[in-house]
Amino acid sequence: MSDHVLVINAGSSSLKYSLVDAKTGEAAATGLVEQIGEEQSHHVHHGPAGEFNDDQAVADHEAALEAAVRAFETHGPALADVDIVAVGHRVVHGGDRFAAPALVDDELIAAVTDLVPLAPLHNPANLEGIEVARRLLPDLPHVAVFDTAFHQTLPPHAYTYAVPTSWQEEYGIRRYGFHGTSHSFVSGQAAALLGRELEDVNLIVLHLGNGCSATAVQGGRSVDTSMGLTPLEGLVMGTRSGDLDPAIHGLLARVAGRSAEETDRALNSESGLKGLTGVNDFREVSRRRAAGDERAELAFDVYCYRLKKYIGAYYAVLGRVDAIVFTAGVGQHSAEVRAAALSGLEGLGVRLDPTRNTNNDQIVSTEDSPVAVLVIPTNEEWEIARQALDVVRG
Ligand code: ADP
Repeated sequence: MSDHVLVINAGSSSLKYSLVDAKTGEAAATGLVEQIGEEQSHHVHHGPAGEFNDDQAVADHEAALEAAVRAFETHGPALADVDIVAVGHRVVHGGDRFAAPALVDDELIAAVTDLVPLAPLHNPANLEGIEVARRLLPDLPHVAVFDTAFHQTLPPHAYTYAVPTSWQEEYGIRRYGFHGTSHSFVSGQAAALLGRELEDVNLIVLHLGNGCSATAVQGGRSVDTSMGLTPLEGLVMGTRSGDLDPAIHGLLARVAGRSAEETDRALNSESGLKGLTGVNDFREVSRRRAAGDERAELAFDVYCYRLKKYIGAYYAVLGRVDAIVFTAGVGQHSAEVRAAALSGLEGLGVRLDPTRNTNNDQIVSTEDSPVAVLVIPTNEEWEIARQALDVVRG
C-alpha cells in the first residue's frame, strides 16, 4: 500500500509542493512556483530525473498547481503511478478551533475563512491552495494541518494576555503560537535521539529560520511558545521585530502620522535583522559581522541576547530541561549563534562542546553536560504528510 501524500504550502505569491512518503519521509519530488501573478514567474521541480526550471508567467494559484501537475507528468514521477493517499495542506492559523489536523470539508473552509482576521497574510493564501487543489484533485481526501494546533495545549496562564477579558471573547485576542508542525516534529526526533520516551522529556525547541520561535515542550506538549496572536511576537527574526513595547504603535501614530497598517507592515517586513542591518539573510549578516561591520555586530548581539532570555524563561517554566534543540536554517547551521545564545549558561547545566558545535554535530553538548544541546533538521513536509496519513487512515 502506498503511503504517499502530496503536501501543499500555498503562500500569497508562491506554491510549494512535495510528494512525500509519510512512512519514511522520503520526497519523491519537490517543487516551488514563485512570483505567481507577476510578469515573470519561476517554477523549479526536482524529480527523479533531476531539476527542471520554467520561467513562464503563472497567473494565479490554479495555474501554479496545474504547472505542478504538468511537471509531475513530464518530469516524474507521474502522479497516476504513485497512488497518492491524501493531499496535506499547511494552514497557518487554526485559532482555538483546531487542536489537531482535520479533513477538509465545507465546514472547515468556513471555519478557516472566519479566522482570516487573525491571519490576513496567510489564511487567504492557504485557502486558495486548498480550493484549487480540491478542484484539480477532487478524488483525493484533503487534510488541513495547522501551524497553531501543537500549541493548543498551552495553559490559560501562558496564552492569556493581560488585557480586558472582552478582547479575547470578542476578537479572539490571545496567544496561539506558530511553527507547531516543526516544533512537534523536532520534539519527536529529539526524544528518539536521547533514547527516551517523548512523554518523559522536557525540551526547549528553538526554530530559527526566516521566522523564529521558541517553545517549551513538557512531555511532548507545548506549554509556552514565543509567537503570539500572530507570528510577530517573540524572537528577533529575518524581517520581524519580535517583542517590543506595544506603545510604539501609538507613538508612531502621534509623532509620525503612521497608520496602524503602515506600522504593522514595517514591524513584519522591515524590522528584525533587516531593520537593523538592511538585510534579512543571516548568512549575509554573519559575513558583514566577520568583516567588522558594527551594525551587523549589534544585530547579532540583539538576536542572540533575545534567544538567551527565552531560554532562561523557558528553563524557569519547565523547571527541569533535558535538552535544548536548535533547528531550521540558522539553528542548524550557525555555530556562532548557538555559542552566543548559550554562553554563560553553565550554571544552568548547559555545557557546549566547541568542536562538536563547529562541526554542526547532532549532539553539540559535552558528554557530561546535564542539559543536552541538539541540532536537528526540521522536516515540516514529512510531519504534514504523517499527520495527513493519520487522519485518512483514522
Ligand atoms: P524558512 O523560515 O524560510 O524555512 P530556513 O529555515 O531555510 O527559512 O532559514 C533561512 C535562514 O537560515 C536564512 O536567514 C539563512 O541565511 C539562514 N541560513 C541558512 N544557511 C545558513 C548557514 N550556513 N549559516 C547561517 N545561517 C544560515
